Amino acid sequence: MTKRLLGRLMYGKRYNRVPWGQRVYVRPGERLIREAQWKRLIRSAPVMALADYERSRPLGEIEEFLSCMMCGESRQQPLFEPTGGNGWRYHVVRCPSCGFLYRNPNVRPERLGDLYATGYNSFLTGKYAANRQRRYDLTMKAFSPVFDEGKERRLLDFGSGVGLFLELAEQRGFESFGVDLSPESVAQANERLSKARTFHGAPEDVPEIAAGGFDVITLWSVLAHLPRPLDDFAKFRSLLAPGGVLLILTVNARSLLLKAYGSEWSGFTKNHLMFYSSETVPTLLRRTGFAGVAFAPHYGDTIEAGTTALPEDLRRRLRRNVELSDGGNMMRVLAFADEEAIGRWGGGPLTVHRFDT
Ligand SMILES: [Zn+2]
Repeated sequence: MTKRLLGRLMYGKRYNRVPWGQRVYVRPGERLIREAQWKRLIRSAPVMALADYERSRPLGEIEEFLSCMMCGESRQQPLFEPTGGNGWRYHVVRCPSCGFLYRNPNVRPERLGDLYATGYNSFLTGKYAANRQRRYDLTMKAFSPVFDEGKERRLLDFGSGVGLFLELAEQRGFESFGVDLSPESVAQANERLSKARTFHGAPEDVPEIAAGGFDVITLWSVLAHLPRPLDDFAKFRSLLAPGGVLLILTVNARSLLLKAYGSEWSGFTKNHLMFYSSETVPTLLRRTGFAGVAFAPHYGDTIEAGTTALPEDLRRRLRRNVELSDGGNMMRVLAFADEEAIGRWGGGPLTVHRFDT
């Protein structure tokens, strides 16, 4: 029996018109089924000592084996083996202590450039660009009023690509800077932008950026690409001014779509290295000197922009299931540098979780 027929029998024809990425959130009872499947998977998948795990997996030339970067646990629970076009394939493990999901073996930091061969930015135009900018706007709105007014505030976009976000940031009045690993992207960005400036390289290599004093740092779809997140976040923390905030958009390791589709999940892209959730990103932030964190659930861009074709009752069900499962496909995070930042931006609809120091 095909999956499609099974789905129709279980849930009824109505849901076949619902886009693939929304079905698991709206079909009656599916959230509970997927969560139960996930629990069973975690209970039944074997946990291995690192040495045994290393013997069981091939190690590519640009790769290295890791222990959990969040908590130091060395044991490995192998869960997924995503594959894709041009034959790429990697292994995803879960930390049996803190639940962190990461690629293991991972990519050695000094070989990261090998993942971003030329042509990486060639698709960042047209409709793609418009959709990206809509996503940035919706995320800023979700954290309003933090991004409403940029006047006399310094902003750093880490991994700024061709400058699609910096364009919005300078329109809002931010004094905006960007850095990126790709020289072609930096050149394109500087053509697009009027006052904002982007640079090739690391923040510490650029005097204007190394000087710090940023009120806002943004990481748009960058976190999952970082091979040494603790080092990077310690640096971000030191670049923030008193009262500063850091925004993260990344794939959500508690996504209901991951629980439903496993290795086929859209978050397992070729260049993603680590997969965070609301349970593991606080560890990264606490260990690197941040004072607190807030989350804004991600319901999907068409839902939030009001362009979805879903009928009203299914929209309501989708929102409820995203909230109940903490299972939106993306995770949106606002990290607070210090108490001053929590005092300034922590009010309104945002629930701030403070870290014990
Ligand atoms: Zn761990």
